[in-house]
Amino acid sequence: MIAKKLIVIGGGAAGFFCAVNAARMNPLLKVIIAEKGGSVLQKVKVSGGGRCNVTRACFDIDEMAKCYPRGERFVRKSFHQFFTTDTIEWFESRGVALKTEDDGRMFPQSNSSQTIIDCLIKEMNDYKVVLQLYHSVEKIESLENGFDISFKNREIIHSDFLLIACGGFQKLNQFDWLKNLNLKIETPVPSLFTFNFPKHPLNNLMGIAAPNASVKIAGTKLSSEGPILITHWGLSGPAVLRLSAFAARDLEKLNYKFSVIINWCSEFNEPTFVKQIHEQRKLFPAKKPANGNFTGLASRLWEFMLSESGIDDTKRWSDLTSAAINKLAKNCCAYEMHAEGKTTFKEEFVSAGGIALSEIDANTMMSKKYSGLYFGGEILDVDGITGGYNFQHAWTSGFVAAKSIVKQSVE
Ligand SMILES: Cc1cc2nc3c(=O)[nH]c(=O)nc-3n(C[C@H](O)[C@H](O)[C@H](O)COP(=O)(O)OP(=O)(O)OC[C@H]3O[C@@H](n4cnc5c(N)ncnc54)[C@H](O)[C@@H]3O)c2cc1C
Repeated sequence: MIAKKLIVIGGGAAGFFCAVNAARMNPLLKVIIAEKGGSVLQKVKVSGGGRCNVTRACFDIDEMAKCYPRGERFVRKSFHQFFTTDTIEWFESRGVALKTEDDGRMFPQSNSSQTIIDCLIKEMNDYKVVLQLYHSVEKIESLENGFDISFKNREIIHSDFLLIACGGFQKLNQFDWLKNLNLKIETPVPSLFTFNFPKHPLNNLMGIAAPNASVKIAGTKLSSEGPILITHWGLSGPAVLRLSAFAARDLEKLNYKFSVIINWCSEFNEPTFVKQIHEQRKLFPAKKPANGNFTGLASRLWEFMLSESGIDDTKRWSDLTSAAINKLAKNCCAYEMHAEGKTTFKEEFVSAGGIALSEIDANTMMSKKYSGLYFGGEILDVDGITGGYNFQHAWTSGFVAAKSIVKQSVE
């Protein structure tokens, strides 16, 4: 039998995972990774602050899929073939023990992303996957019997199967080299960013977090709950990052100028907060609100809210007018701020957009138009919130593609 060839474009998480699994499943398949740069797995290296947040301790497919603002239905299908449990098992069976942090993120026990890289490189060597660095793909031609792949300043290589896993792009014209394949591409926009509130007095409280908060984009139904962190330029933290992902397209349309409404202590709403103040007045009329923080907010944030509500530290609960009470409730439960811009979240960022999911069969990762052409990872219009979701999609799509390529290669 003539050995068939698979070329994987891109030496990132998705490309590696497809290459090493395909080579292991079919030792007769000649597998080549073509990487445009001089090194591989660079995002794995820097991910999770150098620790690599490999996946998520979430073992329910529906629950996990809900954390993908783009691709929820798509990953629900692909996760049935390779899920978080499979990722954990795959790495652990190769000697990479993983651990779970309190927030559900999973890291190698070594606390070093190099452990993941070493494991993938060992698999590459064990299964004789060929790595070709400085191979930047410029054009792909689909032929009757496979694909011709043109590289910058290199010879054309022919391949029976092709996986495109070259990551996300920030601009539409970065997909131009795929133009002749006539695939639908969703315009890329950034996801996972923090909100800027230039010169806002709240920024002086940088470093303070509100653990049980919620944030809503004014005039929309887009909202998110969880910790909010005040930074020296505005707001960050899980609730903000999650909202930035789900609202990525809406906020891009608004040119990142929008208003948010924040509930700093989401166990209350405005009416229950007012009720609670009346309770305080009844129980402790002579006590000063400055010393009567019942919200669980950090004391500096509580003092800020009192000051924003015009309540100085001479006032007692019994001194507060209805207007002051309502204002304090509004500031604590529906504080409005106007954002002017965004800042990239340095610890993890992805692009929303990419190859439209209508082009791809989620059960195989194969193009619906071209038999033998596969896609994996961030180049697809799939992205998750921060916390291990994006790597899980990379592992899953790489594995699912490998399985289907191997099946096609022996047909
Ligand atoms: C700083 C940072 C931290 C992150 N941390 C986490 C985390 O902890 N957990 C998590 O789940 N996600 C994290 N992510 C997201 C995650 O890294 C990506 O979703 C994931 O790496 C995507 O894998 P990929 O293989 O699709 O693409 P990539 O990892 O981007 O790999 C694509 C590869 O293709 C190559 N390439 C591009 N164009 C060509 C071409 N024309 N020819 C040949 N090669 C090409 C690139 O050089 C690159 O090596 C992080 C992202 C960033 C930026």
